[in-house]
Amino acid sequence: MVNKERVLAEFMELIKITCISKQEREVGDLMIARLQELGGTVVEDVKSREALGGNCGNLVATFKGNVEKAPTIMLTAHLDCVVPCANIKPQIKDGIITSDGTTILGGDCKAGIVTILETLRVLKEDNLPHGDIQVVFTVCEELGLAGSKNMDQSLLHADFGFTLDSSGRPGKIIDMAPGQNKINVKVYGKTAHAGLAPEKGVNAIKLAAQILTYVPQGRIDEETTCNIGLISGGRATNIVPDMVEIKGECRSRHQNKMEKLTQEIVDAYKAGAEEAGAKIDIEVLPSYNPYVLSHNSTAMIVAKQAAENIGLVPDITGTGGGSDANHFNEYGISCTVLGVGMTNCHTCEECIIEEDLYKTAEWVLEMVKVTAEQ
Ligand SMILES: [Zn+2]
Repeated sequence: MVNKERVLAEFMELIKITCISKQEREVGDLMIARLQELGGTVVEDVKSREALGGNCGNLVATFKGNVEKAPTIMLTAHLDCVVPCANIKPQIKDGIITSDGTTILGGDCKAGIVTILETLRVLKEDNLPHGDIQVVFTVCEELGLAGSKNMDQSLLHADFGFTLDSSGRPGKIIDMAPGQNKINVKVYGKTAHAGLAPEKGVNAIKLAAQILTYVPQGRIDEETTCNIGLISGGRATNIVPDMVEIKGECRSRHQNKMEKLTQEIVDAYKAGAEEAGAKIDIEVLPSYNPYVLSHNSTAMIVAKQAAENIGLVPDITGTGGGSDANHFNEYGISCTVLGVGMTNCHTCEECIIEEDLYKTAEWVLEMVKVTAEQ
C-alpha cells in the first residue's frame, strides 16, 4: 500500500535539492542510490551527458519482473527544473503544498519522481507480481526536451510507457501532443554613424519590421500555432543597426501541417525580404515530432483501466505542449503523459494538492499491476 508519510517526506526532500538543467548531478547521484537500493540495475546515459555538456546524463534503471511474459513497462520523469529553484521552502496549508512565493515549488517534475519511487517500494515490500520495469529519469527536459532528444536509444527496451509530467489532476491522460520546429532568422542591414552619415547605413530594425508584416503569427487552426517570440539587435542609439535576429516557432499535432506551416513561414520571410530589399539568413531547427495515440494502444488502455480501478474518472485529452513522451513515441515506444496534480508550473505560484501525490502513486502502482495481467 502507498505510504503517504513516506511519499510526502521524499517529495519535501527532493524539491529542496537545486537541480537546474545541466546541473542534475546531486539529485542524479541520489536517484542512482535509491534505484539501486530498490533492486534496479542503473545505467547512466553517457551519450546524453556528453552531447549536452551537463554534469549528469539520463538515468535508466531496469527492474527484473517476477511474472513471465508480461510486457515491459516504462515509467519516466525528469530530474531538472526551471529557475528560480534555489532555497525552495515548501509549505503546506489546507492540504496544498506551495513554495514561500519567492521560488518555484519543483513539483514539476519531482511529483513524477516520488510517485515512481513509491511504486517501486510498494512492489518490493509487498512482493507484488509485476513484469520488467524500466525507469527513465531524464536530464535537461526544461531545455527543449534535450535529454530525451539526445538519449542513447539502445538503453530502452520497453513495450510502452508513461511520462509522469503533466499538469492537471491524476486521471488526466494525454492522447496527442504537438511537434515543434524553431525558425531563426537574421536580417542584415549596414552600419553607419546615425548622426554623421545615416544615409550610408541600412537600418536592419526597420527592415525586420517591414518583413515581419508578412509572417504568420498566432493560431492557425485548432491544432496548429506559430509565434514570433524573441527579437534582438542594435547596439546604441547613435549607430544604424546592421543586424536583427528574430526567433520563432511553429507547432502542430500533425506532422504534415507542421511541415506546411514551416514552409509558409520560410516563404513569407523570403517574400518580405525581397520586397524590402534585405539580405536574410533562415535556419529551421526541428525540436520534436507530434504524436497521436490510438485509444486502443496498450498504454492508453492500461492508463484508463488503472484509473478506473482506483476510482479516478479518466480524462483523455490533447495538449498544446511537448514532453519527453514526444521523443519516446518517436523511438517507437508508445508513451502517454499523465496528470500528476501540479498546477501553475514554471511560476512562483506553483502548487500541488497533497492528496494528488498519493493518488498518483496509487495510480502508477495500479498501472504496473494491470500491465502484469496483460
Ligand atoms: Zn516537467
